[in-house]
Amino acid sequence: MRGALLAVLLILTAFASSADAAQRKKPVEASIARIPAKILFSKARAPAELAPQSIGGYADGCLAGGDELALTDPATLPAWQVMRPSRNRNWGNPVLIDFLERFARQARDSGDWPGLLVGDLAQPRGGPMLSGHASHQIGLDADIWLTPMPARILTPKERETMVPRKVVKSHFDIDPKIWTDAHAKIISRAAKDKNVARIFVHPPIKKALCEWAGKTGDRRWLAKVRPYYGHDYHFHIRLRCPPGNKACKNQPEPNPADGTGCGAELAGWLSKDFWARRQPAAPGKPIKPAPALTLAALPAACKTVLASP
Ligand SMILES: [Zn+2]
Repeated sequence: MRGALLAVLLILTAFASSADAAQRKKPVEASIARIPAKILFSKARAPAELAPQSIGGYADGCLAGGDELALTDPATLPAWQVMRPSRNRNWGNPVLIDFLERFARQARDSGDWPGLLVGDLAQPRGGPMLSGHASHQIGLDADIWLTPMPARILTPKERETMVPRKVVKSHFDIDPKIWTDAHAKIISRAAKDKNVARIFVHPPIKKALCEWAGKTGDRRWLAKVRPYYGHDYHFHIRLRCPPGNKACKNQPEPNPADGTGCGAELAGWLSKDFWARRQPAAPGKPIKPAPALTLAALPAACKTVLASP
């Protein structure tokens, strides 16, 4: 592994140096294109100095001109705090950073939610990560903990080690001792925002939201709340492509048959069969992960993002 990283560094150095790099440009580009893109993008510690652009799709793209979410709201009592800052994943399209600052302050000021504990956004130049997410690649995705923020500034150690609380008891049930109306309010507030394309939550959370929203009133926002495994201690906010980001690929609007996804779609996610199919075929034979994305599989502009100062 260390050898591979060293090789990447050498290749990047060759790529960046000027005179003979021009001569060797073709073979060097070819080698870079075959390296898993997650290795290249995870080594970029600072954003690309380019105009802000989300490039490509949420799970196959990168970010130019990334902006950093400050670790804490500069106010005396913060509206948000970034968790696990050592991961250096508190970067996003400036539109996402503005959204989170506004969303955090409005939620706090409304009395709905005391403040956001913010998990992963994106790497400084976006792209695939070494661990944890298929998406979060173009700086428009944000994980927000479902643990309310304590009314104080967390210590650097707490930000790295504090353990979030799951709000579910299982794949099928919410934990009624943890789940509150405040959780429903913060998720629905995000879903009703016109900039938000989708929200991902573990399936029993969607069930709780459908029940909380009741049978009448505005239920259209529920269509944006998509059940998806893995979102049991956080919810995932995905913004639409911002205006002017011409290389950014929106997904089709969520369009469940019943208008909310509270019926058959949710029942599918909550069925025993569904979860049984996700078990490995035999013990010790884990489900094979998809092959790692290479730079060649990402939009061509992501090469420029990686090579920029
Ligand atoms: Zn996420």
